[in-house]
Amino acid sequence: MIEVKDLSFAYKIADRKVEVLKNLNFSVQAGEFVGIQGPSGSGKSTLFYILGFLLKPTSGRVSFGEADIMRLSEEELTVLRNQKIGFVFQQFYLLSKTNVLENILLPTRYPSETAPLDNPTAHAKALALAKKLGIDLHLHHLPNQLSGGQQQRVAIARSLMNEVDLILADEPTGNLDSQTAQETLSLLKELNRQGKTIILITHDSEVAQHCSKVYHLRDGAFTNVVENYPAPTHAPALTAQANSFKIPGTLSFGIPWRTMRAVLPLVLENLVRNKAKSLLTMLGVVIGVAAVLAMVTLGQFTKRKILDSYESLGVNKLMIRGYPNRNLRASDKPPVNFTAFTWEKDFLPMKRIFPQVERMSPLLSAWRSTVAAGGIDISEKVGIYGVTPDYFDITNRKLLLGHLLNEFQVKNHSPVCVVGYEIADRLFKKTDPLGQILTISDRSSLNYPCRIIGVMAFQTSNKENSPPNLNVLIPYTYYMSMADNWWSAQIHEAALQIAPQADVEDAGKMVRAYFSKKYGKSGMFLVDSDSTLIAQMKRFLNLFSILLGSIALLSLIVGGIGVNNMMLVSVSERIREFGIRKALGATHRSLRVQILMESITLCAVAGLIGIMLGFSTYELAIFGATKFVPNVKFEWTFEPLAASLSLLAILGVGVASGFVPAVRTERLQVIEALRTE
Ligand code: ADP
Ligand code: MG
Repeated sequence: MIEVKDLSFAYKIADRKVEVLKNLNFSVQAGEFVGIQGPSGSGKSTLFYILGFLLKPTSGRVSFGEADIMRLSEEELTVLRNQKIGFVFQQFYLLSKTNVLENILLPTRYPSETAPLDNPTAHAKALALAKKLGIDLHLHHLPNQLSGGQQQRVAIARSLMNEVDLILADEPTGNLDSQTAQETLSLLKELNRQGKTIILITHDSEVAQHCSKVYHLRDGAFTNVVENYPAPTHAPALTAQANSFKIPGTLSFGIPWRTMRAVLPLVLENLVRNKAKSLLTMLGVVIGVAAVLAMVTLGQFTKRKILDSYESLGVNKLMIRGYPNRNLRASDKPPVNFTAFTWEKDFLPMKRIFPQVERMSPLLSAWRSTVAAGGIDISEKVGIYGVTPDYFDITNRKLLLGHLLNEFQVKNHSPVCVVGYEIADRLFKKTDPLGQILTISDRSSLNYPCRIIGVMAFQTSNKENSPPNLNVLIPYTYYMSMADNWWSAQIHEAALQIAPQADVEDAGKMVRAYFSKKYGKSGMFLVDSDSTLIAQMKRFLNLFSILLGSIALLSLIVGGIGVNNMMLVSVSERIREFGIRKALGATHRSLRVQILMESITLCAVAGLIGIMLGFSTYELAIFGATKFVPNVKFEWTFEPLAASLSLLAILGVGVASGFVPAVRTERLQVIEALRTE
């Protein structure tokens, strides 16, 4: 089973080499009960580690079955050790914070590529072993609640969990009273009779007498070999084939689902065991994620609200204004002198020249007017506009009652009007506004009537000066004929609607250039569009959202640092635990997965709680705001983008936090890890 040739081993301390094992040669046959006896310091434990592939010899050869130990990678040795060797350490090396049952199950927790993932019999087997060894009443106790003998038996049960061929025991009786020591020896003997090969290491020559063959070790060399009795003959065929432990590339980039499923119970158990620590760490992440979600949602909500109220008044709207130039010099010689726009000459040809202009309306306006009907009047913020029917579409007005203006009424200077929602609401509480006469009073106390033919639907807007619900729209021709002075009777402003696919700003520049060319320096022309304003607003609102988000991100970062810290501390606290896990079958890969999953699970759970908390906080805040701020209606808002981004960020934190600890445990030397307290 084992073949050792010219084995030497030296520890390196500083620059000095301390030779501990010198040129050992021996072999162990399947079925033997081999004892290695020697005084303290003779190198027994060192040999134990080498035979268990936990240390590599400085020189010489060790083969196990057909496998040459020197040629196998560390991952392959881990799997081989897990499948073929049962360890009983002198200090037991039980996981101190894990119960007895879980300790016994440990070797089955890290399935290799060859071992089955779901081993339904493992649990039953652990129970059977515990019963046989008389520790079945302590399965849910922690190791430190057991006596030394009981701990020893847990260690033995653990070593028997996998169908191992060889049991390595280092001073198994060293820490026990004579009666328990005797029981342990009988147990080992019985296992040997059942076909397990056993290597027992002891300083005690009496204990060594129980072995079939004893090698005496003095200062790292065998002095003599004593055969006490012939080894049982019914030794089973050794199954360690050299090739069966070549595990395929350990560095694979796929998602290791298999390992993830296998270590998930360990991950959850660890998080639950450290409840207080996990919860406190999670708290930071929860607050961070909640803050990001609430802030980003708030930013997006504000942005949408503000833009909506602008866009509802028409995005592809272009305003053009033209005024005569009062500082015109004689040398300027304009082609035509500009005083005001003429609808027929200036605008009607426009549709031919600029195909992107879809609708047009002159806009003559008077503010600070008063409207009155039935003895009630409204004087603040009322806007009177002289327009054509196109104006309704340009500014996105919807009709609630009656009709819009039509071309016929424009042509005939008809005294009709379409009024905003609030005007109809305030002046005609009980009566039908349609057909009623509205009196419009100008600043200069000129009064003129109009018949209401339509009422516009309520429109939300943030226009403070001229809220659309207080507008009165009348045919521009009627407006001009009623104007009290020559200036008001002229067209100085018009609204154009640009085709949706065309660029409003470009169209504005072209229209302006057109008029400048037509009138030279005699006119001053200005164009402006809400889309320029909206573009600026968007930029500002984006900045605002980013700012809000970044402030929240800070708290997420703080939460992330908490996770990072907890993982680092937790791993350095658990060096011994990881040493034990590595010794008993955890490959680098599975430890890496286990640690990454610990931090990712922590972050994922915290992230989900954070999203729920952030969502409810935000909704609650908005709900509260609607109680105090007028004109804001409550509505459910959920930003999937914010939720997924913050979740993604926190999962990133999880990976990042697990990464360094994972690499650290990989570098861990098992024997050094076992020695740490
Ligand atoms: P035994 O188990 O027979 O008491 P060990 O194998 O533990 O002996 O130790 C053999 C010798 O190697 C001792 O002299 C000990 O001081 C030395 N030794 C053991 N472990 C180390 C180590 N990690 N570094 C340096 N020297 C060590
Ligand atoms: Mg020792």
